Amino acid sequence: MTNIVPEINTPTGVANTTAPEVTITFADFGLDPLIQKAVSEQGYTIPTPIQAQSIPHVLAGTDLMGAAQTGTGKTAAFVLPIIQKILRHASSSASPARHPIRALVLTPTRELAVQVSENAANYSRHTDLRAAVVYGGVDMKEQVAILRNGVEILIATPGRLLDHIGSKVANLSQVEILVLDEADRMLDMGFLPDLQRIINLIPAQRQTLLFSATFSPEIKKLAQSYLRTPVTVEVARQNAAADTVKQVVHMVSSADKQNAIVKVLESRTRQGLSRQCIIFTNSRLGCARLSRALERDGIKAGAIHGDKSQGERTLTLDAFKSGAIEALVATDVAARGLDIPDMPLVINHELPFNAEDFIHRIGRTGRAGSKGDAIALVDGSEKRLLDDIEKLMKRKLDVQPLPDIYIPSSKPSSSRAPSEKSYTARVSPSKVADPFFYMPYEAGAAPQSSASAAKSEEKKVGIVSAKPAVGALLGGFKKK
Ligand code: AMP
Repeated sequence: MTNIVPEINTPTGVANTTAPEVTITFADFGLDPLIQKAVSEQGYTIPTPIQAQSIPHVLAGTDLMGAAQTGTGKTAAFVLPIIQKILRHASSSASPARHPIRALVLTPTRELAVQVSENAANYSRHTDLRAAVVYGGVDMKEQVAILRNGVEILIATPGRLLDHIGSKVANLSQVEILVLDEADRMLDMGFLPDLQRIINLIPAQRQTLLFSATFSPEIKKLAQSYLRTPVTVEVARQNAAADTVKQVVHMVSSADKQNAIVKVLESRTRQGLSRQCIIFTNSRLGCARLSRALERDGIKAGAIHGDKSQGERTLTLDAFKSGAIEALVATDVAARGLDIPDMPLVINHELPFNAEDFIHRIGRTGRAGSKGDAIALVDGSEKRLLDDIEKLMKRKLDVQPLPDIYIPSSKPSSSRAPSEKSYTARVSPSKVADPFFYMPYEAGAAPQSSASAAKSEEKKVGIVSAKPAVGALLGGFKKK
């Protein structure tokens, strides 16, 4: 059992840092045994920091702004207390009238909506509450039937929900709790007008929870409009948890990036490390091209981007989860919200234009205190983007020289990687042994500078995190 200090913000927003040391377990939240049973079945014993901080407030009926990303356990942080709060309405009656929508969760993407609904279905499995999900890009019929039957917890993407409201299939007049999940991304994706229309249909007498990776001025404005004296809870950002992620930058010309990826994966094979990775690209076209090119290089790759249908995305994601695909090439929006636990490696094929997206990207690894590698392939023309990222992270990234790879200048970048034979002919034996050797991560081996930089950042930005370090606390995380 771990001792933690729950640093819970008071409704006035002042962190209570003098709280005595206590041991928090799920049993301490006073959740109904039916919920507690479902939580135990998931294998969770210790709440994550965002759960430890949020659940008591949500149970108390307070509006809440939570700064947390996917991977921190934020879904259970709102789903569990929501189930507790609406459990009094649970009914075994088959009548749809006895199952109105009581809690509404809005998400930016279909993938996130599905994940939240799976969580909701899991945690409410021993109760008579019903959970369902509606999202666009698929036929309405099945969703209409589910909504007509009645559902207490509805998870939806905004556009499709408005379609159902328009055809009078969904009614929000009995909603008691509204959750805006990944609110920053919903705004980025232009959902603000849809959100406004939806929120105006929900009774003013409600509890509103807003989760966002960042609290930009736009998010604060949204919160001012729709939340009442919210309490703010924050957990350490992914970049502050740098001691579990080994970050490396390689300066590589655009033309050499694909070969660099091949070498990275070959190197991991030699070291007995997993080759499962997510590779980020900035454009849909670049994403599709890179995936095809990697396949030609013998890497089991799949692309996930906005031009893919829901069915295609699901197939690719399933193949990735099963290991049939080892490199998932993705754009930021498509990858948003994907729940891929224990991702050992994230590769930035190019740096994102928005520095915050870099943090989202590398947040795919080193989750829940596990170890991960994040590699950025940076072309000289991306130097300014690298500066922006380092400024945001308040630390310099470790630039390591690109090992000497033989790439015939006449070969196009999408051609096969050179064979080991052609390679050995041109470089020294020591480099041949492993041209892309990455020291496997060792806990505590993170350079002092990055660890202290992360700490000082935590202090500067006033991040409230449970103690001890997130990684230690989540040591008991259930691995999927
Ligand atoms: P989320 O940030 O909600 O997407 O959750 C990230 C992952 O952590 C999911 O796979 C959850 O099933 C898992 N998880 C959530 N809460 C806990 C917990 N208290 N202990 C262990 N695993 C958890």
